[in-house]
Amino acid sequence: MAGEFELIKRYFADRGGGAGVVLGVGDDAALLDVPEGHELVAATDTIVAGVHFPEDCPARAIGHRALAVNLSDLAAMGAEPRWALLALTLPAEDPRWLEQFSAGFHALAARSGSALVGGDTTRGPLAITVTALGSVPRGTALRRDGARAGDALCVSGTLGDAAAGLGLFRGDFTTRVPGVHPLILRFEFPEPRLALGRALCGVATACIDVSDGLLADVGHLLEASGVGARLEVDAVPLSVPMELAIPAERRRALALAGGDDYELAFSCAESAVEGLAARAAELGVQVTRIGRIEQAAGLRCVDAEGAAFDPGARGYEHFR
Ligand code: ADP
Ligand code: MG
Repeated sequence: MAGEFELIKRYFADRGGGAGVVLGVGDDAALLDVPEGHELVAATDTIVAGVHFPEDCPARAIGHRALAVNLSDLAAMGAEPRWALLALTLPAEDPRWLEQFSAGFHALAARSGSALVGGDTTRGPLAITVTALGSVPRGTALRRDGARAGDALCVSGTLGDAAAGLGLFRGDFTTRVPGVHPLILRFEFPEPRLALGRALCGVATACIDVSDGLLADVGHLLEASGVGARLEVDAVPLSVPMELAIPAERRRALALAGGDDYELAFSCAESAVEGLAARAAELGVQVTRIGRIEQAAGLRCVDAEGAAFDPGARGYEHFR
């Protein structure tokens, strides 16, 4: 056993490259310099073994996910990531696990420009809390509360993939594709939509990341904005792997209520949709119009013929 301090030094010590880091890992707290004219954007999320990911999920994926779910919150605010804190609760010190976990964490941290500046390390059932800190030019952050009647409702990427991947991982669905299925990778390695989030600043009227399921999260955006929406369920984009691997009758429920996709759902003027979709395509992300914001509260789902559609379950909620 190397001990707590040796472990921190080996796997989580300063990797360099952190802009605005006056003092990083090693003191009682980090000292950070927020750029002039910017606001600090702070988000924290915990992932717990057996709740947010299966116990046998690969360690590299857990390291990636722990940071990715937080960066997704920064993306939904239109923020640029700068720093991260990592509170790690581990059942044992397993060097192979730590090697993989930290590789997954550091790879995404480096790619997203997040410097790890501190954290905490304790023994207990596996749980990881990350705090992501970023910045936005003052007054430009995307929020949930700006959607207006007449706006278009849009979503990035494809939906339901992560929930389908988790189902495949657990054996709820079977597939003939050998090796790790692309849908499982969508669960294990979600890609926070950071570049898109920044491109939405000044264009989107409201934005949220889809972590608990499309209906649930769009519901939060509508409530915060004091509006409702009409959602065209057949317009919700599905991926090719989903259409190949998942029975047709299961796809809609996964896309509407499945969590963990970490795509962005947002509202914007109808006249802005085309330009945004083109800008998103340049960034390598698909943007799809899936409905319209309306004055009357509530989310009304309709099918391709315009008939009312009852989606059933809405999404994941703890304590329910
Ligand atoms: P304290 O007892 O003052 O809270 P700790 O022993 O918890 O200090 O941590 C020592 C230093 O190592 C601190 O700078 C802390 O931020 C950092 N640290 C601890 N655990 C981690 C971790 N998992 N990742 C990154 N930094 C960590
Ligand atoms: Mg501590």
